[in-house]
Amino acid sequence: MVKPRLLILGGTTDAVKLQSLVNTLSDLEVITSLAGRTRQPVSQSSRIGGFGGVPGLINYLQQEKINFLIDATHPFASQMAWNAFHACLSVGIPRLKLVRSPWEKVTGDRWIETENNETAAKMLPNLAKRVFLTIGRQELATYAKLQEIWFLMRMIDPPESNISIPPGKLLLARGPFSLEQERSLLLEHKIEVIVSKNSGGNATYAKIIAAREMDLPVVMIQRPLLPEGDQVGDVQSAFNWVNLHFSKSK
Ligand code: NAP
Repeated sequence: MVKPRLLILGGTTDAVKLQSLVNTLSDLEVITSLAGRTRQPVSQSSRIGGFGGVPGLINYLQQEKINFLIDATHPFASQMAWNAFHACLSVGIPRLKLVRSPWEKVTGDRWIETENNETAAKMLPNLAKRVFLTIGRQELATYAKLQEIWFLMRMIDPPESNISIPPGKLLLARGPFSLEQERSLLLEHKIEVIVSKNSGGNATYAKIIAAREMDLPVVMIQRPLLPEGDQVGDVQSAFNWVNLHFSKSK
């Protein structure tokens, strides 16, 4: 009997957790796809690298006879989310978006919410001289022209050698980060403002708590618009969705 096939678009800790849950379903074949950005990814993937836009993904879904797809990519990976939306619609297979809820501002937070890295970079000269930049490595160049500011830049892998980076120090580290770690980092480097994406989840939330405690502003980059459709915020709900479609396809 041919097993139904699930494609998980990964690159998040939730995708890793979902992968181990669905692997317990012996009559289901699971393929996890990674973009290939991280040198030592946490998860085991069955395939690595882009599909080649919407046409490439449509081709892949058809050739590999994928029955359903879970887009468990990061909330800021909007290109992949839209590609998955269009390709699944075109092929006619169910798609679920697994995306954790954004962080909500609470009393004591001094957030300055902004649309993207460009708008964040424009406001920094009026805010601080020492900035903790926690946006990953892909968009560092946006801040490179801010030569009057010193940046502490945290990311998992170093930036590509051909991109301009702002003045400051690179810190290569993978979360989760504890509150104690974040407090001492902010103090040690005399940080005046943090720039963060509103990623949600616990792994990188301690810096937001530390900023609140220390009365520091956080330039919070808002999430891009994601496609409509089935969406859940936690791994267990995604697993329930798989079970629903899995039982239908048997
Ligand atoms: P993106 O801008 O949405 O995607 C750019 C291109 O990368 C896509 O069009 C696709 O190429 C390829 N791609 C992305 N995710 C893929 C996957 N899981 N499998 C195969 N190809 C994939 O994405 P991004 O922001 O560069 O993020 C890349 C990866 O890093 C994602 O998997 C995401 O979950 C993870 N990540 C991103 C962030 C973030 O802040 N953006 C943070 C943590 C983790 P083709 O068009 O050629 O198919």
